[in-house]
Amino acid sequence: MRHTNSARIFRAAKKVIPGGVNSPVRAFGAVGGTPPIIARGHGARVYDADGNEYIDYVGSWGPLILGHAHPAVVSAVTAAAKRGTSFGAPIEAEVRLAELITGAYSAAEKVRLVNSGTEATMTALRLARAFTKRDVIVKFAGCYHGHSDCLLAKGGSGLMTLAIPSPPGVPKAFTALTAVLPYNDLAAVERFAKSRRGKIAAIIVEPVAANMGVVPPAKGFLEGLRKLCDRMRALLIFDEVITGFRVAWGGAAGLYGVRPDLVAFGKVIGGGLPVGAYGGRADIMDLMAPVGDVYQAGTLSGNPIATAAGIATIEALERRGTYAELERKGRALEEGLREAFASAGVPATLTRVGSLMTAFFAKGPVTDYASAVKSDTKAYARFFHGMLERGIYLAPSQFEAAFVSLAHTNSDIEDTIVAARETLASRRMKGAQHERR
Ligand code: PMP
Repeated sequence: MRHTNSARIFRAAKKVIPGGVNSPVRAFGAVGGTPPIIARGHGARVYDADGNEYIDYVGSWGPLILGHAHPAVVSAVTAAAKRGTSFGAPIEAEVRLAELITGAYSAAEKVRLVNSGTEATMTALRLARAFTKRDVIVKFAGCYHGHSDCLLAKGGSGLMTLAIPSPPGVPKAFTALTAVLPYNDLAAVERFAKSRRGKIAAIIVEPVAANMGVVPPAKGFLEGLRKLCDRMRALLIFDEVITGFRVAWGGAAGLYGVRPDLVAFGKVIGGGLPVGAYGGRADIMDLMAPVGDVYQAGTLSGNPIATAAGIATIEALERRGTYAELERKGRALEEGLREAFASAGVPATLTRVGSLMTAFFAKGPVTDYASAVKSDTKAYARFFHGMLERGIYLAPSQFEAAFVSLAHTNSDIEDTIVAARETLASRRMKGAQHERR
């Protein structure tokens, strides 16, 4: 594969953009090398500035559940743009998107549209604190909820990839109100709750953790959080920015049958355009201005083009069988990869919920941050580059999910498994095994 154009563009990028990227993990820091510059995408594939073609499992980090440039999304966006790009006034499409979300996700009785997942979780916390009149927030190590100050402590995603547990620029006083506990450890949450009785405003959790690699909730974990929140009259906030409309039509709340008080969405609900949303119980949501006096606003919130992409995406997901299809494709990939790792004798732990999957280079089990971080990230980096050379575009970090979309065909998945077998058997990986011994 030639990368001359990508290398040239990335050199220019580094002169004018910190690290050459507008979001840190894209820079390939954890796996080495320089990223291909993506020129276009179609279905399950992306094409770089040198014309190389890849089967894509990043999918813009989650939004593209229908694949790239899906015709329904492209035509909805084009038609919306022709009618005007932004008004800063109410439009009918935002009502339609809100109806689709509240219709699918019963815990979201009302929703407010914003522009990113970060805004959604940040505002959900503000609302929870205002409603409970308490200050302390519980989050879990390895969960990522966007980059607002009080949520940056021990975050997953780029913070985990780049090993930045407590990033500078966030005053200690801000994160002093954020308790970070181990994921899947209900006893730890109960102990903490006892020690801070009457102080905890909310527990925020990714109901399927997907920012330390995919870590499914242990049996009873989400139910336990629900009961505990009820007991201490704190709010349970599900961050469904990745899982919303991804793991099931009703998100993780629907899949596991646990109802949060508040929820944050992003990614899929914007179909690849900048959209987030927070929602929840109507009595809590009605504390927001202009009904109440908790404040949040946005020049581009409910933007017509972004809203059109979200509606087109969710309407396409609404047809029967989509989630069964995602499950089938996810399972085929998981089973093929599991077999590839086993026959190569490379220790791995595969975790998956529907179309979200991670192959950890670790003996496992992987249940939380401490066990995820034991992965052999150097081996992952070698695997990643072996796959990239064979035209498979995975996340450039061990601690991220692979996103399977409806556009991935059976033969895309078979090709991916063949590439994995070849990569795992290649000299590059073999060398690593000798080193380990
Ligand atoms: N919450 C979760 C679970 C996420 O995965 C992300 C982004 N990956 C966010 C929040 C933040 O969303 P955004 O990048 O749109 O601000």
